[in-house]
Amino acid sequence: YVAKNNGLTYSVYSSEHDPHSVSRLAMISELRHSIQQNELELHYQPKVAIASGELVGVEALLRWPRWKDVPIEDLIVTAEQTGLIRPLTQWVIQRALEQHQAWARLNIKLPIAINLSTWNLEHADIDATIGELLDRFQVRPEYLELEITENAMLKNPERAQEILHRLSRRGIRLSIDDYGTGFSSLAYLKQMPVRQIKIDRSFVMDMMEDENNAVIVRSTIDLAHNLGLEVVAEGVENADIWDILQILDCDIAQGYHIARPMPADRFVDWLRERAQRLADNTQDTA
Ligand code: C2E
Ligand code: MG
Ligand code: MG
Ligand code: MG
Repeated sequence: YVAKNNGLTYSVYSSEHDPHSVSRLAMISELRHSIQQNELELHYQPKVAIASGELVGVEALLRWPRWKDVPIEDLIVTAEQTGLIRPLTQWVIQRALEQHQAWARLNIKLPIAINLSTWNLEHADIDATIGELLDRFQVRPEYLELEITENAMLKNPERAQEILHRLSRRGIRLSIDDYGTGFSSLAYLKQMPVRQIKIDRSFVMDMMEDENNAVIVRSTIDLAHNLGLEVVAEGVENADIWDILQILDCDIAQGYHIARPMPADRFVDWLRERAQRLADNTQDTA
């Protein structure tokens, strides 16, 4: 339900661990505490090349175990409204690079994508901050990908373009996230130094049932390719969608059909099981 306080409207969440409804103010102070105390987590979701089946990277997605019932988007909005987005994003990047370093020791070398919010582009020093973290964790820039929604890029396009160019010149890869949910044209977005677009899952998930969405996905793939962009489809939930995307020449798929986002150690198990499955298949067909 929604509570009013000082004329501001707060959404109020009740969590399993807390039978009483807790105000948004409590959420803010707990979020601040959780960032400092390292109580947040990242889960990782694979991205797979459709033509080859090759694993091409993972997306890091934020999780807050203490407040499981709060949708992550709401947590991000709260962080944006309270200035916590800056330390939160710093935590996410740091954690992701730490994880990259830990996996590299196991000989798992994968690009990790993290999500930036609109507000991160308000801070011109984001590129220096990221540069320092890459140095500290000794991660080559091409192993870090930044996903930015089209709305975030368009809030202040000139500024975004400048910051994104600086990031891109460092060798960091940039993607347009949730493409299709805004109102911008791809031709316009192409002015940004991006190499990849991710078609929003709302178009992909039901493209079997909804002819309009199927048309949007198909024409987006063609247009993006003509502009020299790589295309990721989000929300690939079943084999039928995978098959269609393959026919449509989509480059990369991400979704529950491949794997759900998972904690780092579970991801390593998933990799092993996958390698085993691939080896078994090769034997079967030999
Ligand atoms: P996103 O970046 O578009 O991430 C993809 C979302 O789709 C994730 O939701 C993921 O769990 C979900 N998803 C993946 N495959 C499927 C599928 O096959 N079917 C369905 N129905 N959903 C699928 P999640 O983890 O709840 O994150 C939601 C959004 O919150 C993200 O959307 C992103 O915009 C934001 N977010 C997550 N982590 C961060 C972060 O560290 N920083 C910032 N700024 N935003 C974040
Ligand atoms: Mg994303
Ligand atoms: Mg997305
Ligand atoms: Mg999204």
